[in-house]
Amino acid sequence: MMFYNPEGFTLGGSPRAHLQVQGLSAGYGPFLVLRDLSLEVRPGLTVILGPNGAGKTTLLKALSGLIARRGVVRLNGEDLPTRTDDIVKRGVALVAEGRQLFPQMTVAENLELGGWLVPKAERAQRLAQAFDDFPKLKERAHQMAGTMSGGEQQMVAVARAMMSAPRLLMLDEPSLGLAPKMVDELLAIARRIADAGTTVLMVEQNVKKALAVADRGYVLERGALVASGAAALLARSSVVREAYLGAKAEPAAAPKP
Ligand code: ATP
Repeated sequence: MMFYNPEGFTLGGSPRAHLQVQGLSAGYGPFLVLRDLSLEVRPGLTVILGPNGAGKTTLLKALSGLIARRGVVRLNGEDLPTRTDDIVKRGVALVAEGRQLFPQMTVAENLELGGWLVPKAERAQRLAQAFDDFPKLKERAHQMAGTMSGGEQQMVAVARAMMSAPRLLMLDEPSLGLAPKMVDELLAIARRIADAGTTVLMVEQNVKKALAVADRGYVLERGALVASGAAALLARSSVVREAYLGAKAEPAAAPKP
């Protein structure tokens, strides 16, 4: 699996995407969800964990320009624009929760829409690459997207985002509602995309599996970061183990009467 990468990031030519976020605040109208958040998304796979309502989706929305933000966001040292289409042109793609495919269009048509910014000939080339990278979708090229399984639809959504040859791919809960085997498959795809040179920032509720494939992680609670670090270390941290992996330390107190 190669993934289309015209600038050869995989070959070490151009720098891989590195996002720096400092003092980010964002929310909805007067309701501030994220307050003064600072984090870094280095090349590789970074996962954002946290309970429902923590602000994980809000973070991805703010970074992709879907909602207003304050603070500094730099992509490889340059200020990231605030308008969504300018952000997309910088090579940042978002696969939103719920996939947002066109159900009445075929898989191939949905993928082509992901390459709307590139000339037709190049789009065809990218489509061929997408089918190489996602052979399961090649078999289903002419099937209506709306008739595919949840996991297959999520795959279409990821492949469609890759059609824009992003340097930074953001995935919002790619495994939501999927059977365990599909969860593994989607997380493995995220890992391969990161290995092929596209920096990946992923929100996941599947804490154990996400930390097993990620390089680094952040834990967000009520709009603020409460833990961060290498994925393997986070998986062993008490914050993550107790709150997310169900490893609540048993009190050493005497048993209840
Ligand atoms: P989940 O895992 O449930 O998706 P999350 O960590 O992604 O949670 P967000 O979706 O970012 O959380 O929501 C953070 C807060 O912002 C919540 O309190 C939510 O109710 C609120 N919120 C989200 N979207 C909107 C909106 N469009 N308008 C107003 N408030 C919103």
